[in-house]
Amino acid sequence: MSENRYNTIIVGGGIAGLTSAAYLSREGHKILLIEKNRECGGLVNSFTRDGFHFDSGVRALIDAGIIFPMLKDLGIELEVVKSPVSLGLQNEIINIDSIDSLLKYRELLIQFFPESEGEIDDVLKVIRKIMKHMDVLYGIENPLFKDLKRDRTYVFKKLLPWLPKFIFTVGKINRMNMPVEDYLKTIVKNPSLRDMISQHFFKNTPTFFALSYFSLYLDYFYPKGGVEKLPEALKNKIIECGGEIKTETKIIEVVADKCLLKDQNNITYQYDNLIWAADLKTFYKIAETERLLPKIKTKFEDIKNNILKNRGGDSVFSLFLGVDEPLESFRKIAYGHFFYTPTKIGLGETHREELDYLLTNFEKVEKEEVLTWLDKFTRLNTYEISIPGLKDPELVPPGKTGITISFLAEYELFNKIQKAGWLDEFISELENRVLSVISDSVYPMLKDKIIARFSFTPLSIENRVGSSEGAITGWSFQKSMPVINKIQIADRSVLTPVPAIYQAGQWAYSPAGVPMAILTGKLAADRVIKKMKKLRKT
Ligand SMILES: Cc1cc2nc3c(=O)[nH]c(=O)nc-3n(C[C@H](O)[C@H](O)[C@H](O)COP(=O)(O)OP(=O)(O)OC[C@H]3O[C@@H](n4cnc5c(N)ncnc54)[C@H](O)[C@@H]3O)c2cc1C
Repeated sequence: MSENRYNTIIVGGGIAGLTSAAYLSREGHKILLIEKNRECGGLVNSFTRDGFHFDSGVRALIDAGIIFPMLKDLGIELEVVKSPVSLGLQNEIINIDSIDSLLKYRELLIQFFPESEGEIDDVLKVIRKIMKHMDVLYGIENPLFKDLKRDRTYVFKKLLPWLPKFIFTVGKINRMNMPVEDYLKTIVKNPSLRDMISQHFFKNTPTFFALSYFSLYLDYFYPKGGVEKLPEALKNKIIECGGEIKTETKIIEVVADKCLLKDQNNITYQYDNLIWAADLKTFYKIAETERLLPKIKTKFEDIKNNILKNRGGDSVFSLFLGVDEPLESFRKIAYGHFFYTPTKIGLGETHREELDYLLTNFEKVEKEEVLTWLDKFTRLNTYEISIPGLKDPELVPPGKTGITISFLAEYELFNKIQKAGWLDEFISELENRVLSVISDSVYPMLKDKIIARFSFTPLSIENRVGSSEGAITGWSFQKSMPVINKIQIADRSVLTPVPAIYQAGQWAYSPAGVPMAILTGKLAADRVIKKMKKLRKT
């Protein structure tokens, strides 16, 4: 093979691409992983500034019966700690330590909404039911990461008894696909209460996915040294197995009929198989398919149209702070992963109709009107707060604390404001408001102890990982999804109309997240391994 020719090239060194590359290199395939940034990891990444460690993407990880089995299967050791979650509303904070914490959650909601006790109990009944489904769904190590030919104990004692329960559970899950906002309307009258339960989820999140969060809170863990330790471990595995990784290389063209890729420096790479583990809109835009067989070309065009007319899901705004205050002061208040809502009023239509109005009429709207909306938005929102030092004290300078405050944010708003030329001003206004809301409520010590402050917007996410609309978990939840969204047919999610090209990661399957990105990365690698074995036999 010539220098730039590979059995498989993987584009995108996020967690999905790294998984594909690790499995293929372990099989002895000549592979190349191409990543546009200096570091791999994509949305599973960390960085250090002024001695403070921050996680730029996902704040902690959920095993989901996938991450630990994958690590074990690849022979990777990763030191991890539990990443417990706290929930807070106004001045009340509860720690989620076990399934029994559901009772504390019930009391918390009843304290603020005493007139809705019956409805709260109805919601909790559904959450409990879903938790039982989750126990089944994530109850065993995912069979994809087990050696089913050799591990007979697993097959007979775990997999076979689990399968009928799994099939039954999948049926139940598929019936709970309605957007959680709509579902809650059928059992909860008070819109503020509905908001308290659901406003930190993406718009139109399927009910099952949203209400499974209580199980997920109990599943969170954190790699010692930061979340970046996970991609780092995979990267080391790839190199140890002889795989190649090329960073700071952006693919700008895919010539599908010639199995050729071109990067920003016009360097070309030849592949037998391509796994596209990055943004799918980008792939369909840059793929040259003119000389493919007409049947394949037509199918490709159909899918391309569908992909391009859909949009990425919600994005996020993150404020990173270095604080001259010891971890202990924060530990007394809540755990290092904390969902906090400063007021029980709820966002209502603030981030829906009111935001839609601003966006639709943006040219006519005065700056003051946007800032007034921003006042309300920041006051009524729910915040995800992460303090890495509370999970691993080595991650902060002695006596100080690094803290990340984030919330779901609309890409289009930032985009329009940037075009209007006042993005920096808007970011500063937003940071000030978030700080004032949080220091007036849960962390008063933020008032005068901040020694470092900066933020990432949806536009930063788009620029950094090339994610359409700054999305952090692939496609927005819409009626017609351009990719597979049923777990029982997840293995098909990695196929594209072009036989030599596969797809993986957050854009290949919905709903997405780290575990599904890993799962699709493995599925794509398995397809290639199977195909190559078949070819070798013939
Ligand atoms: C703040 C935040 C919180 C989150 N919370 C959770 C959570 O609690 N649970 C959960 O499961 N998930 C969470 N996620 C989502 C999760 O991190 C992502 O869905 C997942 O990491 C996606 O992995 P991926 O490999 O599919 O894609 P990405 O991480 O986007 O990786 C794609 C890679 O491809 C590279 N690339 C793009 N274009 C090109 C090109 N043309 N050439 C070469 N390289 C290219 C990018 O630089 C990137 O490294 C969160 C994300 C964020 C940002």
